[in-house]
Amino acid sequence: MRQIIFATGNQGKMREIRAILEDMKWDVVSMKEAGIDPEIEENGATFTENAVIKAQTVADNLADEKKARECVILADDSGLVIDCLNGEPGIYSARYLGEETPFSEKSADLLRRMKDVPEEERSARFVCAIAAVFPDGEMITTEGTVEGRIGYELKGENGFGYDPIFYLPEYGRTAAELTDDEKNQISHRSRALELMKAELEKRMFG
Ligand code: IMP
Repeated sequence: MRQIIFATGNQGKMREIRAILEDMKWDVVSMKEAGIDPEIEENGATFTENAVIKAQTVADNLADEKKARECVILADDSGLVIDCLNGEPGIYSARYLGEETPFSEKSADLLRRMKDVPEEERSARFVCAIAAVFPDGEMITTEGTVEGRIGYELKGENGFGYDPIFYLPEYGRTAAELTDDEKNQISHRSRALELMKAELEKRMFG
């Protein structure tokens, strides 16, 4: 069976990815499960550039030649883009105020910076870029977004990261107040992944 190696160590992401790609009958493993754990320097200027860097680094570290001929490497990069803060935290979402700072503090800091911003200027989106490297070296990328607004307080216990301050007007709730299933149906990551799945299917069956 052919294999998809996803360049992440995050088990939550792996669960979501496996669920979406399940019916493709490919073996989906994380890079650690594939025995690869390279140092990856995320120094791109966009989500897409960072996803490409991650996927290419893993492809370059695939020492096993048989695997290199049979594997597709996928990688993602995602984050929160707030319009009134000139796109911050953007590609620095995980690193905002330092990797070790809890997301409750990062989120509270963003709310403080936006305390005088009126409702109509609080637009924001989650963005996810996914890159794929094929055995012949071909590279493709997809992008998914979900639009929302930054709220006025942290609300909800589900999800992770900035979900408690990301308000979805059509649901009347924050992303942290959605169930996993509800979030997976609309998330930036699932949208980017569905687009990537269509590309993979085209290449396998087209
Ligand atoms: P990545 O793992 O390098 O893609 O970093 C993603 C960062 O963006 C996470 O650490 C979160 O801060 C933020 N982020 C991405 N997706 C979500 C989401 O669905 N909810 C909340 N925060 C997210």
